[in-house]
Amino acid sequence: MIVLGIESTAHTFGIGIIKDTKILCDVRDMYKPREGGIHPAEATEHHVKVAQKLLKQALKEAEIKLKDIDLISFAQGPGMPPCLDVGAVFARSLSIKLNKPLIGVNHAIAHVEIGKLLSGAKDPVILYVSGGNSQILAFSAGKYRVFGETLDIAIGNALDKFARSLGIPHPGGPKIEKLALKGKTLIELPYVVKGMDFSFSGLTTALQQKYHSDKFSDEDLCYSFQEYAFSMLIEAAERAVAHLGKKEVLLTGGVAANKRFNKMLKIMCKERGAKLFETPLKYCSDNGTMIAYLGYIEFKNGRRTQLKNSEKRPNWRADQVSVNWI
Ligand code: AMP
Ligand code: MG
Repeated sequence: MIVLGIESTAHTFGIGIIKDTKILCDVRDMYKPREGGIHPAEATEHHVKVAQKLLKQALKEAEIKLKDIDLISFAQGPGMPPCLDVGAVFARSLSIKLNKPLIGVNHAIAHVEIGKLLSGAKDPVILYVSGGNSQILAFSAGKYRVFGETLDIAIGNALDKFARSLGIPHPGGPKIEKLALKGKTLIELPYVVKGMDFSFSGLTTALQQKYHSDKFSDEDLCYSFQEYAFSMLIEAAERAVAHLGKKEVLLTGGVAANKRFNKMLKIMCKERGAKLFETPLKYCSDNGTMIAYLGYIEFKNGRRTQLKNSEKRPNWRADQVSVNWI
């Protein structure tokens, strides 16, 4: 069956079309803030502007017609409310126009399932590290449970925020990684792990204060930032691996691009006798394909979303989804 998936939860408007598990096309357009971080109203305006153009492009690349689509899947949450509305309205109108079923899926779980499909992981502990999310997830007793998460801002958001203090435009993660390579001295910073959860807000503030004190080089600050933040994430992930006795770790989200993070994670996996599975970078970031794929597996297992239940769910947690496909 042919499924069209729509992603619009934050900065990216994306459309993916799949035929069963084969990806026919993946098109996307990312909103880039002129200054500062993501502005929800501007991102929304961006999504509205690019939606029709991307749909046309997607159909062309997939070499199909609108009427060939069997199912419309959209990211119902979590995400920025006005951004979610654009995708939901777009999906509903397509579903009505084509008289085809609609399914609203969870964005975080879509990241997990596309990662499993493309990496071959079967039952991993998942590290989902992006601009808006930082969670350690794993399937257990019928649901994807959140075994650890940030108590405040996401790791990507923390990197972007500190980067802005250094005058680096959004998204700052890649430039921080480059600067960190030249760092030599580890600066003492707050290391915050509480149980299985972690926090990046105090760490970011401490880095900003140290930067303004003019006593440290940008390179050392970036290097220390990465060492602290990534160690916190990996400590929590390691505990999840140990407690659950899982033998696989899956990495996804935009921060997965960081080579130092990958290296640290590989060491942990080796020490634990677990295997690291990496989502291909293209599908680590937000995309419509993962939405199409999760819609496909949920639909095949009997789930549908009625129009009256297709309202956005800005705070929809992964552990609130009853999993009908595993
Ligand atoms: P996403 O929200 O999944 O699209 O991922 C975007 C986030 O990933 C932003 O916060 C980026 O700064 C971050 N990011 C991208 N590449 C890297 C990198 N090489 N190292 C660290 N963070 C990165
Ligand atoms: Mg995401």
